[in-house]
Amino acid sequence: MTSRNDSLFARAQISTPGGVNSPVRAFRSVGGTPRFITRAEGPYFWDADDRRYIDYIGSWGPAIVGHAHPAVIKAVQDAAARGLSFGAPTEAEIEMAEEICRLLPSVEQVRLVSSGTEAAMSALRLARGATGRDKIIKFEGCYHGHADSLLVKAGSGLLTFGNPTSAGVPEDFAKHTLVLDYNNPQQLEDVFQKMGSEIACVIVEPVAGNMNLLPATAEFLETMRRLCTQHGVVLIFDEVMCGFRVALGGAQSLYGITPDLTVLGKVIGGGLPVAAFGGRADLMKHLAPLGSVYQAGTLSGNPVAVAAGMSTLKLIQEPGFYESLTAQTRKLVQGLSDAAKDAGISFCANAVGGMFGLYFAEKIPATYGEMMACDKNRFNEFFHAMLDAGVYLAPSAFEAGFVSAQHDDTVIEATLSAARGAFAALAH
Ligand code: PMP
Repeated sequence: MTSRNDSLFARAQISTPGGVNSPVRAFRSVGGTPRFITRAEGPYFWDADDRRYIDYIGSWGPAIVGHAHPAVIKAVQDAAARGLSFGAPTEAEIEMAEEICRLLPSVEQVRLVSSGTEAAMSALRLARGATGRDKIIKFEGCYHGHADSLLVKAGSGLLTFGNPTSAGVPEDFAKHTLVLDYNNPQQLEDVFQKMGSEIACVIVEPVAGNMNLLPATAEFLETMRRLCTQHGVVLIFDEVMCGFRVALGGAQSLYGITPDLTVLGKVIGGGLPVAAFGGRADLMKHLAPLGSVYQAGTLSGNPVAVAAGMSTLKLIQEPGFYESLTAQTRKLVQGLSDAAKDAGISFCANAVGGMFGLYFAEKIPATYGEMMACDKNRFNEFFHAMLDAGVYLAPSAFEAGFVSAQHDDTVIEATLSAARGAFAALAH
């Protein structure tokens, strides 16, 4: 019998390339039919065949308070009733900017946009405009959205497809992007010594989540901060994924490092399109209408999206929120590691705050190279065994996973029970 997911996927492929609006959703890496989601609540979502799954992608990060949280839904409904978009400023945008500046002390001023891609692209333009330099540094395996300059050996969907760069990015753009090794401070020293004065910015995911989960070492980020200060280079932390996910103050609070600019997204929109970039006021003043770096958006600071974001930012500030999120995520990765060990499977797992990584490897990878050496086929088998058992993991061996505040002990235990079965099946 054909499932409704199968028939929807067949239909979707007629009108949309690959049947999806963002590549990794297509299950190309893991094979099989993507699930078409009809509704979500708390830690669960349901597919077109009305099967329920425990959801560990949470819309790839935003759903940190769980799906369809009543307070967020109410805020959105109230805002929508007052009008969907004005193209003129609102007080809610001021409140959101003030909240972000208060929660991230490195951010003195912030501008709201609608996607992480837009935010990273704009931060890059600002860094180039403010320094008058063209070259940028990024790291292999980090993903910062799909702006041309940043699609140079980028991670995420591209890694999954084993395609190091995208077609359609002119060589002339890519040649300004230096791609270095993540967690390699010596290489940074060497490159800065050679060309520090030509570099506009370094952009980095301080806790990388687009090549599976790979936290930076403190030494790597400290070296980066010191070199950027010495050479007048703008340090950009891309916290689209890890911001408000690994801690209330983002990865910058965990490492105690102050970036010059920060890129945000996902959690700050609570499931609607809000992203942002912000940082030192002396840099931000280069933006139009004050300065000569242009950036704009019809739906920037959209009132409905801002309402979802603000209500989410309030919920994550409730006492104990991150302690509990971190503890539940740890319980999950510890339980998975134990289950794999019992089944004799070579597997490990790691977590930072509410973000986790699963690795079919002997030890937790510390570099991009080690990450790529993980057993992708084993992951794919595990993914499908879990999916069959009602647990929805990211459909790729190179993506991080996300836990929400609604993943309570019952949900974690149900996940571990499914995992014990999946690992046992893998062992045969
Ligand atoms: N930066 C990082 C670190 C991301 O994880 C992502 C999206 N996964 C982006 C930027 C791009 O954000 P968006 O998909 O909203 O354009």
